[in-house]
Amino acid sequence: MKKYISTFLLVILFYGCSTVPITGRKQISLVTTDQVLPASLAKYAKELKEQPLSKDREKTAMVKNIGNNLAAAVDKFLRENGKSAEADAYQWEFNLFENKEENAWCLPGGKVAVYSGLLPICKNEDGLAAVMGHEIAHAFAHHGEERMSEGMLAQLGGIAVAVGTANDDHAAIWNMAYGLGTGLGMLAFSRTHEKEADELGMVFMIMAGYDPEEAIHVWERMAARNKSHPPVILATHPSDQQRVNDLKAFLPKAKEYARKYM
Ligand SMILES: [Zn+2]
Repeated sequence: MKKYISTFLLVILFYGCSTVPITGRKQISLVTTDQVLPASLAKYAKELKEQPLSKDREKTAMVKNIGNNLAAAVDKFLRENGKSAEADAYQWEFNLFENKEENAWCLPGGKVAVYSGLLPICKNEDGLAAVMGHEIAHAFAHHGEERMSEGMLAQLGGIAVAVGTANDDHAAIWNMAYGLGTGLGMLAFSRTHEKEADELGMVFMIMAGYDPEEAIHVWERMAARNKSHPPVILATHPSDQQRVNDLKAFLPKAKEYARKYM
């Protein structure tokens, strides 16, 4: 049993991995976008049915326009890097929902929502491009699919730890699998995803012709608001000085990457 599981985990760790373009981070990918797309589309359809769209034509056009510009940048990047099939698979759609919550999200496959409550913090088109670029980057880097893959590994890890011993040859693999799946592992991965989405989002916003300095200012504004009235988006996107510092540090690199594909 032990041997069987260790072989199985080894196979997963060696073959069930992919690499996130630009950041070069290795990720576990046992779940593909194709597999989650039906659920993703159904979830978006449900939101469209239950939540009113904004009646503000100008702001709605702004959201759609920025989204399309960012999606064009992602598309260009994918096609120029031999990933045309992946580019074809996205079903980009951008909508502005009438909702006071300060929130935005992107589902696997490219369905994006911006809530009207978030617009004041974004302040201008560059700020909105920064937040939308970040959300799109979560889809681009397949973070949702990675979380689901981790969930699958967590189940396997639980079995492995139950049958494994401390001096097992493959203890490191058990620990890795289990560590990934426990609460702490998930949290650590979440921070990784946030940083990665910030970096990728910055590259795409530059490619799409927006001012990347505004990404720094948006998260500064979020961090400032965090002290008084924390925006809803901060529940999954904690903003602090570290985040702002990381964005500042990445800016020169982002410009360099973007220049290659503009
Ligand atoms: Zn995020």
